[in-house]
Amino acid sequence: MNTRVIKLDPLNIDIQKLSVAAEALKLGKIVAFPTETVYGLGANALNSAAVEQIFKAKGRPSDNPLIVHIADKDKVKELTESIPEKAAVLMDKLWPGPLTLVMKKSSVIPQIITAGLETVAVRMPEHPVARELIRLAGIPVAAPSANVSGKPSTTTAQHVLDDLDGKIEMVVDAGSSRVGLESTVLDVTVEPPVLLRPGGVTPGQIEKYIGPIDIDKTILGKINSENIPKSPGMKYTHYSPKAHVVIVKGEDLKKQTEKILELADSNKKEGKKVGVCATLQTQEAYRGYETISVGDRNKPETIAASLFSILREFDDRGVDIILAESVDDHEVGLAIMNRMVKAAGYDIVYA
Ligand code: AMP
Ligand code: MG
Repeated sequence: MNTRVIKLDPLNIDIQKLSVAAEALKLGKIVAFPTETVYGLGANALNSAAVEQIFKAKGRPSDNPLIVHIADKDKVKELTESIPEKAAVLMDKLWPGPLTLVMKKSSVIPQIITAGLETVAVRMPEHPVARELIRLAGIPVAAPSANVSGKPSTTTAQHVLDDLDGKIEMVVDAGSSRVGLESTVLDVTVEPPVLLRPGGVTPGQIEKYIGPIDIDKTILGKINSENIPKSPGMKYTHYSPKAHVVIVKGEDLKKQTEKILELADSNKKEGKKVGVCATLQTQEAYRGYETISVGDRNKPETIAASLFSILREFDDRGVDIILAESVDDHEVGLAIMNRMVKAAGYDIVYA
């Protein structure tokens, strides 16, 4: 299969061009498209055979359910059995945006979407190209991140091609994703609601509207027999570049930097090519190593936006080990640290 690239200006969408992608979706093909979080790999959510192709192209385990994307809030009624009061409030205040709500599913949702669960995850993306594409197709669109399963999610059309060229019908290219990390997943079928995955919308933003929520323990903690994630997808290896990632934690940034330099030195002596995932504030300290600044500590959104693309960049540079600083794990930082801890397979060193 030749993967076709459709390039669009998100601020001035060429509807005719985008219609080609919408038609492909209607015909049961799989199409990658930009959202504000990451690039998604979409298929008609009501067509099991189409959805099946997503799992095949990504190599995604079949017990990992998919998020269904819609362009109008009204569509939720058709996809769910009921809309809890708190879900309605969040839909009103935070949609469109990077917030996925898990609700009781209606009978139109095929088994393959929910991996047999009685609930369905629904999101209304904010990205104008994503919304227009879904609207033009006139169907709910199932879309996980458009990467090979286990690898860092894709935030540009080039990343999508790097992973899936030849395996998917089309990719709609509208530049980089703004948020850079996936949506926040909140289970609103329970009281209080439970945060299953931190993401583009922070716990504080949610609690402002619906009061306290619970946070699934596996978000930062290790998964074991006592600590089983409530979201099936969270148990898998995720976001992993080819290089081994080690996270250095510690309250004191200076100590983190010293520890990284110590580890960098010992790894270099072993003949390894060392990459350092630094921040604007510290990058100068790591001269002599492949160093990339992931963003500004005072603006954690900048770190979220570039984390995945930088993990991919380290692979392009052929490093064997990535030594990464950590950030404060609150609000946006919770989503950043969740992805980093998983990318590192929980390999954390304390400074
Ligand atoms: P991805 O599409 O790769 O960004 O991942 C979607 C995330 O949503 C995974 O962590 C899934 O486990 C989670 N998810 C999707 N549907 C459900 C559901 N019905 N209940 C709980 N988690 C879900
Ligand atoms: Mg994913």
